[in-house]
Amino acid sequence: MKKIITVLGARPQFIKAAVLSRLIRSRGDFSEVIVHTGQHYDDNMSEIFFRELEIPDPTYNLEVNGKAHGAMTGQMMEKLEPVLREEEPDLVVVYGDTNSTLAGALVARKMNIPVAHIEAGLRSYNMRMPEEVNRILTDRISDLLFCPTEQAMRNLEKEGFGGFDLKMILTGDIMKDSVSFFKKRLGEDAEGLKRLGLEEGSFVLATIHRQENTESEEQLRSIFNGLESISADMKVVLPLHPRTRAAMNEFKIQSSVKCIEPVGYGDMQQLLHQCVMVVTDSGGLQKEAYFHGKPSLVVREETEWLELVEAGLARLVGSDPEKMKASFDALRTQELDFSRDLYGKEPGTRIYDEIAAYLKR
Ligand code: UDP
Repeated sequence: MKKIITVLGARPQFIKAAVLSRLIRSRGDFSEVIVHTGQHYDDNMSEIFFRELEIPDPTYNLEVNGKAHGAMTGQMMEKLEPVLREEEPDLVVVYGDTNSTLAGALVARKMNIPVAHIEAGLRSYNMRMPEEVNRILTDRISDLLFCPTEQAMRNLEKEGFGGFDLKMILTGDIMKDSVSFFKKRLGEDAEGLKRLGLEEGSFVLATIHRQENTESEEQLRSIFNGLESISADMKVVLPLHPRTRAAMNEFKIQSSVKCIEPVGYGDMQQLLHQCVMVVTDSGGLQKEAYFHGKPSLVVREETEWLELVEAGLARLVGSDPEKMKASFDALRTQELDFSRDLYGKEPGTRIYDEIAAYLKR
C-alpha cells in the first residue's frame, strides 16, 4: 500500500490535517504516517486538538520548539531526514505556511520525494511576514499545489507557475470541512462557555498572535487600545496565544478585555457560533467567522483572503484603535450577505481524490 507522510507542527495544521486524516482512514486507499515537528507543544495548543479531532497519535515527534526561525527550521530538517529515509513515503503532505511546512517540503524535495502543499498560492505580498517566505518557497518546490481560492490560482499564474512541472488544482478551502464537521456537535458541551459567563449575541471574539503585531510594543498597545474601546460597548473575549501572553508580560500591557487561555476547537466553534463579531489577525479565524455567518475586523494591513474583504464581510483595520472602533460600529449595524459560497464544495474530498489518483499513477 502506498504511504504518505504528513508533516505538521502548529495548531492550524492539526485542524486542517484532521480532515484528510479522517478520509484516509475511512477510505483505506493508502496509509498515513504523522510526523509532529513539536513546533506547538502545550496541551492546549497541540494535544487537545489530537484528542478532540480524533487525529491518530503522531508516529514521530521531533520536539523542536522555542527557537528562532533559522534554528527551528534547520533542526526540524535535520531530524526529519532520517525519518523520511526510514519510512520511504510515496508523498509528503504539508499544510499552510509555518516553519514545519517549509522544513517538510525542503527535506522531501531534496530526497526526490514528491510534495503536496495544501493551502497553496496564498500571498500577502508582505515579505516581512515569515509565513509569506515559507509559503512562496514551499509552493515552488511542491508537485501538487492545492489552492483554496481562485485568487490563490491567479497568484501562482502571475508568478509563472503555469510554466513549471507541477500541478495546480483549485480545491476550495479544507477548513470549510473542519467547521462543517464541528457544527454538528455545537451545543454538546456549552458548559465551558457558561463558565465564562458569556451569553449568545453579547460578545466579540478576538485573537491576536501574528509576529508583526506582537513584536512591536507600540503596535500591540495600539491594538489593545482598540479592543478596549470596543469593550466599552461590548464584552471582548480573547483566548491568548502563548506568544501574545509573553509579549504582554514583556511590555507590561494591562487590559480589561477578558483574556482567557487558548481553548479547544469545539469551544472555539461554540464561541464563533455565539459571538457578534470577530477581531483577529489569524488567517483561519477570518474564514471560520464567515462559515459561522459572522463579520470580522482583520487587525492587519493586508489579507490573503481578499474575497472576504471584497464581499464586505471582513474589513482591514490595521492596528489603528479609531479605525477598529469605527469599523466595529459600522459592521455591527450593516446588513451583510453571507449566502455566496466563497470556499468550494467538499474541499477535503476533492484533495483526497487528487492525492489518491496521483498515488495510483
Ligand atoms: N483556535 C482554537 N483555539 C484558540 C484559538 C484559535 O482552536 O484558542 C483555532 C481557530 O478556530 C482556527 C485556528 O485555531 O481554526 C487558527 O489558528 P491560528 O490563529 O493559530 O493560525 P492561522 O490561522 O493564523 O494560521
